[in-house]
Amino acid sequence: MDFLYKPPMIIRKLFSGIIWENEENEIIITVDDGPSENTGKVLQSLERFGIKAVFFCTGKNIEKYPDEFNSIIKAGHSVQNHGYRHRRMIFKNQRDSSKEILRTNKTIKDLTGQSPIMFRPPYGWFNTNTIRAVSDNGMKLMLWTILSGDHTGDFATVRRLTDSYLTSNSIIVLHDNLKASIIFDQSLEYIVKTAADRKFNFSLRRRNEL
Ligand SMILES: [Zn+2]
Repeated sequence: MDFLYKPPMIIRKLFSGIIWENEENEIIITVDDGPSENTGKVLQSLERFGIKAVFFCTGKNIEKYPDEFNSIIKAGHSVQNHGYRHRRMIFKNQRDSSKEILRTNKTIKDLTGQSPIMFRPPYGWFNTNTIRAVSDNGMKLMLWTILSGDHTGDFATVRRLTDSYLTSNSIIVLHDNLKASIIFDQSLEYIVKTAADRKFNFSLRRRNEL
């Protein structure tokens, strides 16, 4: 099963607080679930290709890996909210959704001076309470167009998904975790090469405002 978000236009219009795909004609690389003990490798790889990414971090991992978190900031990437404990939001009411989001916002703001503007629900699971909690806190919900498959540790999956689905305005999910770290560099290299072949560009903007 390919984990793509390509809902019909009518649905996308109904939920304007959700970023389904990049409205600019550029590819956005997002890196979920960090920081981790592998963040250094992820940063090296992004640096190698001159890519500025959006890191969706969990509050818990930021607290566990403060040095790695700082190195993401230092390298000039954007850091956004992926919940506190990486819990599924789909069964949460609005108050609990808000709590989960605000706890991580505070952790990030305390360390960077900037409050996140985007939330990505863990596993892409959310409900209307999540949407309300996100917009009440002045944020947007960012989904993706390609879940690269790097978290499977299987490069053939990444290659197949990239070949099939890479477009000029893709939002791609890669991961900062142990399994993905084995093929992160190889995966990013393949995405970059495919984008170049198709004459697509990567976003160079640091996404700290909507
Ligand atoms: Zn995640």
